[in-house]
Amino acid sequence: MERKKMFINGVWTDAKSKETREIINPYNQEVIAEAAEGNREDAKLAIAAARKTFDEGEWAVTPASERGELVQKIAELIRRDKEELSELETLDTGKTIEESRADMDDIANVFQYFAGLADKDGGEVISSPLPDSESRVVREPVGVCGQITPWNYPLLQAAWKIAPALAAGNTIIVKPSEITPLTTVKVFELMEEAGVPNGVANLVLGAGASVGAELSENISVDLISFTGGIETGKKIMQAASTNVKKIALELGGKNPNIVFADADFDTAVDQALNAVFFHAGQVCSAGSRLLIEESIHDEFVETLVKRAESIKLGNGFDESTQSGPLISAEQRAKVESYVEIGRQEGAKLEIGGKRPEQKELESGFFYLPTIFTNCTSDMKIVQEEVFGPVLTIEKFKTEEEAVERANDTIYGLAGAVFSSDISKAENAAGKLRMGTVWINDFHPYFAQAPWGGYKQSGIGRELGHAGLEEYTETKHIFRNKKPEPIGWFE
Ligand code: NAD
Repeated sequence: MERKKMFINGVWTDAKSKETREIINPYNQEVIAEAAEGNREDAKLAIAAARKTFDEGEWAVTPASERGELVQKIAELIRRDKEELSELETLDTGKTIEESRADMDDIANVFQYFAGLADKDGGEVISSPLPDSESRVVREPVGVCGQITPWNYPLLQAAWKIAPALAAGNTIIVKPSEITPLTTVKVFELMEEAGVPNGVANLVLGAGASVGAELSENISVDLISFTGGIETGKKIMQAASTNVKKIALELGGKNPNIVFADADFDTAVDQALNAVFFHAGQVCSAGSRLLIEESIHDEFVETLVKRAESIKLGNGFDESTQSGPLISAEQRAKVESYVEIGRQEGAKLEIGGKRPEQKELESGFFYLPTIFTNCTSDMKIVQEEVFGPVLTIEKFKTEEEAVERANDTIYGLAGAVFSSDISKAENAAGKLRMGTVWINDFHPYFAQAPWGGYKQSGIGRELGHAGLEEYTETKHIFRNKKPEPIGWFE
């Protein structure tokens, strides 16, 4: 079986310890690859390479338009190899091939977007209050960036970090989730083909507690960008305090979806289903918390349950499959424990709440779409991120109540409002404490729009102009045009 290697200072390499890890297909638990299992020693080598390359200075002063061309080349190679990348992503995550293809389109667009932005910020001259002087503001790369990604959107999340970091002139060390490294390894092959200079982009495979912790703690790393769970995010914040690193955190969400009685009924049902059951609910912005206005609640639930019953689970490569498995046995056990909590808390199970019974799904980590009604804001199942196909439904009477309850979690990643009364929808959207609010839609995200969370959903933004700014330092240069002694201490 082919061994996936790490990429350090332009060389494909095994782990120093020679350890490896089996990569599993969550659809049938077959071993699909073996990957080098790096540890702190490998991470230190990659950090040293990235540090030396940055400090030597050539990459950071490469004209921004040249860096942009390189990032554009990566976008083109991703488009060329879209099918191979999509197949790898489906094998590794179980998501449908249609979803993987859409991910690859998005990923290429992200590289293209940041390629275009690379040379657009020429700095600015600002007005100086002092005579005979010039003041200007320039943006420079931050330096060595550690980038840690999760398993639910392995390559998409990596692209959100790699593309802006390279466009801005940083050097990087990427650590993908240890259970889904395949597409990230492939993209490093494409970056090598594109001609990214040695030491600029480094890849270390391995566990969070070793490789991830080293990247977060190491004082030669200037910035750590992390996407993953909230508890890991807290550990990274602490570890990053060693040298007061810059941190960018994209954490989880418990995203409310508010449906007013005047919403277009069929659209709202359709979107509510897609919001939570897409990718088996393993989406940071999943609409896992549905708030329905009381007058349409019963009819809405009845329609939603009927539609959810017919979601076809299966092999991601089968074009008729609508949802794949969960990523792992651990993730399914976590979902099962939350469903048990929901039952004990008194929520009413309308559908699901168990594994499917079909023989052909037995060896995958499948779980049925699950809907709870009679939920209240104080329930754990309503407050905490399940990260699986589990929807909680609450009723509300007034706009104020809907907004107040929607805001009543520690999270603030995303939310949606469905209503045909635009002023009502805009009013609610304005009051939601979230990084993204959709009106009469759910899930659209794209390279041009910033993404990130309020409250405990994170720090900083990815994508958009803000996504490039995360990877830059701002410098003010002041020049005295007529230098002469001040004379204060004469
Ligand atoms: P996770 O936190 O378990 O792991 C994420 C990454 O962190 C992995 O690469 C892991 O190896 C690494 N890691 C683990 N422990 C570490 C440590 N001590 N130090 C450094 N790195 C460490 O998350 P996950 O289970 O892979 O992903 C699911 C979570 O990611 C969910 O909570 C989801 O909401 C979140 N997520 C958020 C966004 C967003 O944009 N906000 C996007 C995708 C996923």
